[in-house]
Amino acid sequence: MNVPLLNLQAQYVSLRDDVRDIVDKVFDSQHFVLGAHGRALESAIADYSQTKYAIGCASGSDALLLALMALDIGQGDEVITTPFTFFATGAAIARLGAKPVFVDIDPNSYNIDAAKIPSAITSHTKAILPVHLYGQCADMDPLLEISRSSGIPIIEDAAQAIGAEDRGRRAGSMGLVGTLSFYPTKNLGGAGDGGMLTTSDDTLAGRLRRLRAHGGANEYEHAEVGVNSRLDELQAAVLVVKFPHLDRWSNERAARAAVYSKLLQGSDSGFNVIPPFIRDDGRHIFHQYVIRIPRHRDRLAEHLKQNGIGTKVYYPIPLHRQQCFEYLGYKEGEFPESESAALETLALPVYPELTDEQQHYVVDSIRRFEP
Ligand SMILES: *Cc1c(COP(=O)(O)O)cnc(C)c1O
Repeated sequence: MNVPLLNLQAQYVSLRDDVRDIVDKVFDSQHFVLGAHGRALESAIADYSQTKYAIGCASGSDALLLALMALDIGQGDEVITTPFTFFATGAAIARLGAKPVFVDIDPNSYNIDAAKIPSAITSHTKAILPVHLYGQCADMDPLLEISRSSGIPIIEDAAQAIGAEDRGRRAGSMGLVGTLSFYPTKNLGGAGDGGMLTTSDDTLAGRLRRLRAHGGANEYEHAEVGVNSRLDELQAAVLVVKFPHLDRWSNERAARAAVYSKLLQGSDSGFNVIPPFIRDDGRHIFHQYVIRIPRHRDRLAEHLKQNGIGTKVYYPIPLHRQQCFEYLGYKEGEFPESESAALETLALPVYPELTDEQQHYVVDSIRRFEP
């Protein structure tokens, strides 16, 4: 049996006609940048994310960059974030000349550990940037409390967490601004790169709209220098077709996740497999289903590969161990929870089209592994 880590073809089969129709319409209109599809998607996502505004841009990475720019973050500023995340989170901070200040994660949720944030705050701290990793929200109440008492705004990296909830509040609606990605493998994925910002702040929304289009108040008047980062109409059109399915897809991912966790229970193998921790006061959208194997992770991955099962490590190198961040002066061992997670975690295939039979096969294969 073959169980790929992700199977986008299976999803496309059911959408093929609708996607082709709407792409045809975009070509017929010859209107490719900032149009009706983009506006329709922005309004749908704002609604979905419980924010007043949503502003499309070219990628999730650009969304992070734009959010930081809109908060005037640059040279000499510090932004607190997690080292256990996709590279783009730290890169956006560094790209603007600001300093990423890493804070270790909670070993259960893999999200930033709020208790460790206060001691990382300095007079240069301009934002706190939690990541809702794998589709589960960081514990936002303590973060929001720190933000309120310090006046430091929160930017939520919700690239993996569209529709995820923390006590009924949607990802991207709790901080001052949130960022989303429509990279093809995300829960809501386009046919290329795409991203969006969510906020309920009037002033910030206006600034973000200007910044994504060269910073101009209009085509020819520029009070500041922005970037060219728009969500094009082809991407927006494809996403408009896919968006109505998002909730079902995310619920089906969560259902697949529950099946895994049940099957993995009471594993009597000679090694320990820890299923993901799921908060009981939130909604996890299972962008990834990530197990933890305190030892032998790489050999288990190899064993599964030999049995036709795709797995992946998100992420094998924490950001403070990346060569490009050597100048920050962090040492090995400085963020032990992130470093352990990088060595012990493994993502299993999880998507709506995954069958029961495939899931049983994955878990049987895990049980057959002899370390
Ligand atoms: C995917 C992702 C991004 C970047 O999104 P792109 O659209 O690929 O640029 C940023 N942060 C996290 C946590 C991501 O998973």
